[in-house]
Amino acid sequence: MVGVLLPLPLAGAYDYKLPAGCNAARGALVAAPLGNRAVLGVVWGTAEGTVGDNRLKIAEPLEGAPALPAKLCDFVDWVADYTLNPPGAILAMALRSRGAFEPETMRIAYVRGPVTPPRMSAARQRALEVAADGLARSVSGLAEDANVSAAVVRGLIGADALVPTQLPEFPPFQMPDAAFAVPQLNGDQALAAQALRDAVAAKRFSAHLLDGVTGSGKTEVYFEAVAAALRQNRQVLILLPEIALTMQFLERFAARFGVRPAEWHSDLSQKERRRTYRAVMRGEARVIVGARSSLFLPFSDLGLVIVDEEHEQAFKQQDGAIYHARDMAVVRARIEDCPVVLASATPSLESFVNATSGRYAHLKLASRHGVAEMPSVQLIDLRHERDPVDAEHKAQWLSPPLRAALERTLGAGEQAMLFLNRRGYAPLTLCEACGHKFTCPHCSAWLVEHKYKRRLACHQCGYEMAMPTECPQCHESGTLIACGPGVERVAEEFAAFFPQVRYGIASSDTLVHTGPGEMQGPLKLFARGEIDVLIGTQIVAKGHHFPQLTLVGVVDADLGGSDGDLRARERTFQLLHQVSGRAGRAEKPGLVLLQTRNPDDAVMQALARGDRDGFYEQERQFREAAAAPPFGRLVALVISGHDGEAVRAIARQLGKSAPPARDVKVWGPTPAFYALLRGQTRERLLVQAAKGVDVQAYLKAWLAAVKTPAAVRVAVDVDPVSFF
Ligand code: ADP
Ligand code: ZN
Ligand code: ZN
Repeated sequence: MVGVLLPLPLAGAYDYKLPAGCNAARGALVAAPLGNRAVLGVVWGTAEGTVGDNRLKIAEPLEGAPALPAKLCDFVDWVADYTLNPPGAILAMALRSRGAFEPETMRIAYVRGPVTPPRMSAARQRALEVAADGLARSVSGLAEDANVSAAVVRGLIGADALVPTQLPEFPPFQMPDAAFAVPQLNGDQALAAQALRDAVAAKRFSAHLLDGVTGSGKTEVYFEAVAAALRQNRQVLILLPEIALTMQFLERFAARFGVRPAEWHSDLSQKERRRTYRAVMRGEARVIVGARSSLFLPFSDLGLVIVDEEHEQAFKQQDGAIYHARDMAVVRARIEDCPVVLASATPSLESFVNATSGRYAHLKLASRHGVAEMPSVQLIDLRHERDPVDAEHKAQWLSPPLRAALERTLGAGEQAMLFLNRRGYAPLTLCEACGHKFTCPHCSAWLVEHKYKRRLACHQCGYEMAMPTECPQCHESGTLIACGPGVERVAEEFAAFFPQVRYGIASSDTLVHTGPGEMQGPLKLFARGEIDVLIGTQIVAKGHHFPQLTLVGVVDADLGGSDGDLRARERTFQLLHQVSGRAGRAEKPGLVLLQTRNPDDAVMQALARGDRDGFYEQERQFREAAAAPPFGRLVALVISGHDGEAVRAIARQLGKSAPPARDVKVWGPTPAFYALLRGQTRERLLVQAAKGVDVQAYLKAWLAAVKTPAAVRVAVDVDPVSFF
């Protein structure tokens, strides 16, 4: 009898029998009967024994006896416990390649046979000369290599001059070469790289914050740790936010190691997924670059984990099982007993505190590599910017100092970027006559005007409607006005002032994400110097290296700073610092202008003074005083469903039944920020606990006491990072 975990949201493992004489250890894959079908399952441990042996069904081990590594099973259990998800729901993420465990199908290929055909032609001669190297090729492969037709190859097969053989379904992954192109590191870089090489050599868990300003060479440095792991013949996982997983990155890896790494992200085909999953499980794929889901791959011998841009919120998975891939990467490294490196120019406050308190090693790269200097950052106080030249009030979003700087930069033949973290033309459309505001029918959100598409769109659920010509409430026409700017509107104003200048708009709706592709449209044109100004949302803020870019204008630096959530300051600082980091990355110095109505705000002051550590220190004190993370613990409960009454009733019931406990406070229920989202009513509760409290145990006891109907969902978010 064994306990078998199924990749389904069930409370735990189910008991099964194994066929007579069969032993299977934890991790062994089995086909387990469930109802009238067979489900892929994993032997998890000993049986509970509550069901009599004679009533148990038989779980059949899979052919070839594939197994998940025991450490991956331990990791699944750990994540399930921590995030309060059923272990089967986490296991499902670790089994996300259908067919990876089926016996491998082989493909037919041909090699040179013993017979020399009686009739030779020049084409046959060529084909046989190519085949003389002994490599197995498909018909089309040989035809192509020898520059002959497929018919020629088939003729040679018919004459037994070529004979069939079997090849694995997929070609093997090529081995990255640690010595392919070793860089010359500068002083700080060499120190950091040596610390990481030592950590890899120690083959033990250790955590490192690689904390370096934008352009300081963090990637070059962690590549040295990758090289060290490769020299030990071990595997490496590099986690990137999906948006940073670009062709540029893969090419950069290839420039250092000779071949591209294996990839893992949502755009892989089923077939590529199967190939990569198998190669990871067998240890054949050495370096995997992936988005957060790659954390659950079955590494056979993981020697190093890297999380680049570790502060990114994209590492937090918000739907389904809610987990933070950065935090779980540290856990995975601890279970695998290998080092983990978190890299960022603007670390999360959590990682910063861990590094400064000595829990993580703190590796600093203080300056940009080569001659590039950090850009100068200046504030433009919008409260005092009158516009003397602009009698018609044409200028709403670009202040005179920003326009003057644009003129200077463009006049000098350099490039500029205007940043506004808002897609579309205007975030709100309003009727001047009756005050009607256009909102989404499914969400508590305004509809955003997209002028090029002539539509109003909900950025939460994707609902769209054609731009109306009259007000649906008072039926006046010509009364609808656009309030506030999005990037399209900033572009319109820019074009009015600079009619001769070539510009492009980059936002997630103008760039279609298709996995690690080439830089697209406007980004590509900008990189090639075919346009001079890029106007964009946060999609332009990260990672890109544009050597001719010397001016960054932030249209509204206050955006996002005032929504009152715990992380708003940190997020604003990180985003603006990252945007600023795009300026002046080569020889020419960069200038960053931040338009703000709160120039005295701590975030603005820290950005202007270039005092990053000062900002972190102040933020640390705020959080400590408020007993907020990482000095206290938070868990959010989001109760949602289509039946608003039922949702509110369950939320109230949860609120009332929260067990009293020392050092635990429960806030709410209150309507969530999006009280309606995709047609679902949402209520929130927030648990705040002192650092030493076992919040998981508290929540388990609490949630077990409240029965929720199937139509109401209670999502548990341990360590929430956003509060929508
Ligand atoms: P970060 O990841 O810290 O932003 P990168 O690793 O992308 O920095 O480095 C910024 C630029 O400087 C890249 O073009 C990189 O190739 C170059 N660079 C950094 N360090 C070196 C070095 N030691 N030798 C040559 N080029 C370097
Ligand atoms: Zn109206
Ligand atoms: Zn909506």
